Amino acid sequence: MHEMSIALDISEILNEEMEKHPGRRLAKVAISIGELSGIETESLKFALETAFAEQGRKEVEFDVRKAPLKALCKECGCEFEPQASDFRCTRCASGEIEITAGQSLTIETITLQ
Ligand SMILES: [Zn+2]
Repeated sequence: MHEMSIALDISEILNEEMEKHPGRRLAKVAISIGELSGIETESLKFALETAFAEQGRKEVEFDVRKAPLKALCKECGCEFEPQASDFRCTRCASGEIEITAGQSLTIETITLQ
């Protein structure tokens, strides 16, 4: 399962982060995943909960959201949110675009207790 290996990577990053804060407890993690990343929010959330439960940390809450896709038109310079079915510029209909957001996975915030 693709999401499980991602969840384990995230868990490793979080564990490293927690080592910098001895005595604190991880309470909540907010993650955004790009529309184009091919990751399902619910599957990733489930994989994270499973990975953390296996480490005996069931109390951690995960907030996984889709990040909207953003693109920059190389013709007219406008920034827009392309639809999955149509990647042309919404202003000038040019196909010369650059995807600027929505491709990757980001750990947005980590809440400690
Ligand atoms: Zn344009």
